[in-house]
Amino acid sequence: MESVKLEQYRTLLHALGFRATPVRLCIIELFHKAKKPLSIAEIQDDLKNDADLATIYRIVNALGVAGLIKQVDFQHGHAHYELATREHHHHLICQKCGKVVDISKCDTSGLEKQALKIGGFAKINSHSLEFFGVCSSCKNK
Ligand SMILES: [Zn+2]
Ligand SMILES: [Zn+2]
Ligand SMILES: [Zn+2]
Repeated sequence: MESVKLEQYRTLLHALGFRATPVRLCIIELFHKAKKPLSIAEIQDDLKNDADLATIYRIVNALGVAGLIKQVDFQHGHAHYELATREHHHHLICQKCGKVVDISKCDTSGLEKQALKIGGFAKINSHSLEFFGVCSSCKNK
């Protein structure tokens, strides 16, 4: 998907069969402004009294099924999510302070060729890939 401007999400929600309720738009705006993938707890922190956890879960799940957001695994024991409308990228995650850096350079063609051969698959549709390590400021602590 191409990158999408905030004003376009209302239309996009409609196109996906959702009503553009304030809470849905709020959640999408949060994702849009976020510098890194958000957990459900972080979303609820921001929405405070506007939506309870169950509502947020339900909306995030539905948006996930619709393909508007996708899950990212930071190995935190809970899921993080980001807009699937963003350009393809990976993440570099500091295991000490939680800093997240987007890595937009992606060349997995060699790996994919290998995977197809090993698995005997006809086609690979997508991949997700995160890197875990220690950032330079944590290393110097
Ligand atoms: Zn987390
Ligand atoms: Zn760090
Ligand atoms: Zn990639």
